[in-house]
Amino acid sequence: MSLLEVRDLTVAFGSTEVVRGVSFTVEAGERVCLIGESGSGKSMTAMAIQGLLPRAARVTGSIRFEGRELVGASDAEFQKIRGRRIGCIFQEPHTALNPVVRIKHQLVAASRIHTGLKKSATTQRASELARMVELPSPERIINRFPHELSGGQRQRVVIAMAMSLAPALLIADEPTTALDATVQAHILQLMDDAAREHGTAVLMITHDMAVAYHTSERILVLRRGELVEEGSAEDILLRPVHPYTQGLVAAAR
Ligand code: ADP
Ligand code: MG
Repeated sequence: MSLLEVRDLTVAFGSTEVVRGVSFTVEAGERVCLIGESGSGKSMTAMAIQGLLPRAARVTGSIRFEGRELVGASDAEFQKIRGRRIGCIFQEPHTALNPVVRIKHQLVAASRIHTGLKKSATTQRASELARMVELPSPERIINRFPHELSGGQRQRVVIAMAMSLAPALLIADEPTTALDATVQAHILQLMDDAAREHGTAVLMITHDMAVAYHTSERILVLRRGELVEEGSAEDILLRPVHPYTQGLVAAAR
């Protein structure tokens, strides 16, 4: 049994199918990338797995996570899985952070809800998490509010939050797209290190072939809601078969 098995997934708004007949698997600990241009259905696929699609979306097909069927699952069932078994990181780190709560409280909030960690243990746990993502001088950083951090620092906090319960799967939707080019590689490396340390599988979502190649063992190419090619990172980069994939590779050179 694969960790995640997506079969014939279709997401439609009215008569418009934005994801069409998508099938793929992610094995435990595997790093897989979903790549495609803006609007190709990457985020809708990710949202379907997390139970975060807009109400208007109609979903058919099957999404099995750890053997459990998620298509048609209730909000309560999704909530049990999110955070604990599936971590997520989005493009804009501020969307995952509460602007009026100090970083240290946010760092441990999720883990405290699930593990019943005592409030007195909060600062120590926050420091551990901050260290995991190499935030400078953790003791000072974690007392700040989100707006007092740089974009890269905020995304590191979000990574620490997402990884705090060592989820089986991390879904990272364009995690570095909003960041300066100079910090992108470092953030991806931190994410990769944290995932490897915890045996967490990663579903990386990006429009950038360089990001796909450097973060993932296997790449799935999505075009207008449909998977057009799938292969090892090396095959996709060096021997792309579909003209669309060839275009993505050429654009990255
Ligand atoms: P990507 O993440 O690959 O850039 P998305 O998955 O966000 O693309 O979007 C896929 C398509 O779904 C886009 O054409 C987008 O306009 C459409 N879409 C997204 N959200 C909605 C919505 N709430 N209602 C209708 N169409 C939507
Ligand atoms: Mg998107």
